[in-house]
Amino acid sequence: MIAILDHEIVSNPQPEDVGTITVTATVEGYDPTFTAKTFLEEFIEVESRSKENLNDFLMESGINDDDTADGIIELMTYISEVTSSASTDYFPGCALKVGLFLVYGDHQIEEAVQVSLDDHQIEEAVQASFQESYIIRFRPASMFVVEDLPREIYDKPSDTDENCTICLDEFDNGERVVTLPCDHYFHDECAVTWLETSHLCPLCRFELPCEDQ
Ligand SMILES: [Zn+2]
Ligand SMILES: [Zn+2]
Repeated sequence: MIAILDHEIVSNPQPEDVGTITVTATVEGYDPTFTAKTFLEEFIEVESRSKENLNDFLMESGINDDDTADGIIELMTYISEVTSSASTDYFPGCALKVGLFLVYGDHQIEEAVQVSLDDHQIEEAVQASFQESYIIRFRPASMFVVEDLPREIYDKPSDTDENCTICLDEFDNGERVVTLPCDHYFHDECAVTWLETSHLCPLCRFELPCEDQ
């Protein structure tokens, strides 16, 4: 078995796609394709539902246990390399699309890569998940709660460059940052603008109270 992996970093995703990973797995010679969108951290967890589903998909396609395990390990290794290596363009504010293609025997590998990266498939999967998140997407956070969030003046640690994952700019000394209850912090202005549209933390989807609660 050969596992072919490829990825695309979406540097300016829709707000609800920030921090997500979309995995599309295809097994050569098996028609259905596995696609799941989940938060990257959730996917990397040892027991995540998306990984279980991927496991089921690979087993269903007729792959033996060893190859299923190998495929998932290769995928996880690949994802951790993409998300942790300084040589890639990955940053927490983007979305990641990963294609896993498993090939048996001496099929044309280049052809296989072509299929695994079929944008159309990925596009459709993303469309489907838009529908699901549509309802919660446009509920603003309560103004009173937003006003009460703790603010402080950013004091830049000498050896780190942290970014505001809403505007993607680095935090600079003297800028006002606001911290959400989940401990994620952003530029005050960025967070306020964001929370006027969505009551979810852009990084972890922590839910702030809404206007009507
Ligand atoms: Zn910002
Ligand atoms: Zn958060």
